[in-house]
Amino acid sequence: MKPIAIYIHIPFCIHKCSYCDFNSYAGLDHLTMDFCEAIKREIRGVRELEREVASVFFGGGTPTYLKAEQLNSILNEVRDVFPVTKDVEITSESNPANSDMERFEVMRQGGFNRLSIGVQSFDDRILRIAERRHTSEEAMTAIAFARIAGFENLNLDLIFALPEQSLDDWRASLLRVININPEHISTYALSIEEGTRFERMHRNHALHQADEDTELEMYEMAIEQLIKAGYEHYEVSNFCRAGKQARHNLTYWLNDEYLGFGPGAVSYLDGRRWMNEKRPASYIRKVKDGEPLAIQDETLSPAKALSETLILGLRLRGGVSLKSIHDRYSIDPLERYSGLIGNLISEGLAELNGDTLRLTHKGLLFSNDVFIRILP
Ligand code: SF4
Repeated sequence: MKPIAIYIHIPFCIHKCSYCDFNSYAGLDHLTMDFCEAIKREIRGVRELEREVASVFFGGGTPTYLKAEQLNSILNEVRDVFPVTKDVEITSESNPANSDMERFEVMRQGGFNRLSIGVQSFDDRILRIAERRHTSEEAMTAIAFARIAGFENLNLDLIFALPEQSLDDWRASLLRVININPEHISTYALSIEEGTRFERMHRNHALHQADEDTELEMYEMAIEQLIKAGYEHYEVSNFCRAGKQARHNLTYWLNDEYLGFGPGAVSYLDGRRWMNEKRPASYIRKVKDGEPLAIQDETLSPAKALSETLILGLRLRGGVSLKSIHDRYSIDPLERYSGLIGNLISEGLAELNGDTLRLTHKGLLFSNDVFIRILP
């Protein structure tokens, strides 16, 4: 059996950023201790599963909102319950606002071997608009601390098409990140999500965001600059140095199995997908009382699982093997999507080499439109 991935959701943040619709909350300090006990109990609850684990990812929220010792004790619980592969990847997200040397050193000693730092922008003006609670200088300090603490595998997150961000601003951020030379870079376009401050500003016409053409230009600039700097563009929004793909995220893109722990965490195992209770206080109470945590639960039909595997696989620049999909679901994707795949190819959005279907450069620029067309 293939090893699985484990996701740990830490829902706490110092402040809600303007664009954020993640399951994260500010002002819940009083819950952190009970939360740590609850999540460890949830992990212990699957002791009988006996699956090997190839990656553990602490995301959020802001994992580094917790003390390093608390993160290590959750990680220890994972290692107690699951056998891990020899080269297991153990990542924590980190916000420059909660990044200090001692914390990183304790985490490194505790077994974390990869950090993903939410830099988002190197422009303080734009960071303020996004209500990030750190400056670009603090991000640089966090990166330096991570290196000194011994993290040899770093991801830096950047967002483009942020309000009031020009092409020149974006170019400057790209040059800064190239200069820092992390092993991995993620660059996502800002998306305006319901319930966020940016969405309210957008409704009131108070958000000065890049238009669609500029956003595409920014995306193409990222691809061009990062490839020129020697990065491999291996996924729609992700770039890495040779061999430094995010193993944890590859689990998602290959639509392989994973278990999620914590409020709102999603799991996918044996064709079943479920999501935990989202609100931290209710999550803690339910774990304590031994109540079921799943608030959404579905068993995927082979046809639905196939379309998701196709969409996720197309995110990878190497593309997706149609034969492996056929073998996995006993459905021939070329038959099921014959018209659509033919159309994507004739529109110049996808190409078929042997049995591998992949997006073209044009397909990359309009990937969301392609994925919507594949949805069942
Ligand atoms: S730090 Fe991350 S999770 Fe927390 S509010 Fe900001 S974007 Fe959301």
